[in-house]
Amino acid sequence: MTEEETKDEKQEKNDESKNQVEDTKSEQKEKKIKFTFKCQQCNKCCLERGPIPITFWDLELWAKNGVVANFLPYLDIYVRPDGVMDLVLKPLSPPKKSESSDKEGFSFEEVPIEELLNEKCPLFNKDGNKCLVYENRPLSCRTYPLDFDGKNFTIVDVDCPGIGQEGMTKEELKEMRETAKTMYAELTRMRINLPVLNQIINQKVMIDLMRKNMEVMSNLSEEDRAKIDEILQKGTQKKEGNVAN
Ligand code: SF4
Ligand code: SF4
Repeated sequence: MTEEETKDEKQEKNDESKNQVEDTKSEQKEKKIKFTFKCQQCNKCCLERGPIPITFWDLELWAKNGVVANFLPYLDIYVRPDGVMDLVLKPLSPPKKSESSDKEGFSFEEVPIEELLNEKCPLFNKDGNKCLVYENRPLSCRTYPLDFDGKNFTIVDVDCPGIGQEGMTKEELKEMRETAKTMYAELTRMRINLPVLNQIINQKVMIDLMRKNMEVMSNLSEEDRAKIDEILQKGTQKKEGNVAN
């Protein structure tokens, strides 16, 4: 084998592996842009969504459109298992048969959010089969099922029937990706600020409560105060008795 031939062979091998790398790159690129989506309006995501995170973007939109009050009854604070605190739309609990009758009814207040992770959004109307707040729906609903974690895009619900449907334009894909990025930024902003706001509000509520209690106490007659002292003393004695037992 001549030196010239060896050089040629080496060059050929290099070209071959370069082509393979190029092929793999374009395959990966193809795979990356394979995400296509067309919502099929099946409403599955509204029926089993669980708590829906709310961001400042949503609050600002609702304030601008004068609809904040419509959302207030459904808002709650949810502390996730990893300790992250979210403002959420609390899902409706499933209908329960009341103990005294066979009638079904909703018990919205009593059920902890942890038990409602796959339940219906409170703003979905089952009879009309529609979102009651479509124009003001949260950012999280606008980007569903695409999510962005600061680095990568992911699918939050691989069973969403809209995934893989043809017909999505480049502009629609771009808009969906931008919305997912906005959601990430807005959720991060909310998660930084919410614990502080929550603390301030709780403190304010406690101070108001204490002030009201003090006002009530200062207006009590001597007789009423004596009665309260008596009740408190009985309570303390009962506790001490329980400890001794
Ligand atoms: S986003 Fe998916 S799950 Fe939700 S309505 Fe559209 S197709 Fe159905
Ligand atoms: S707010 Fe509307 S779009 Fe969002 S989950 Fe509820 S019903 Fe569905």
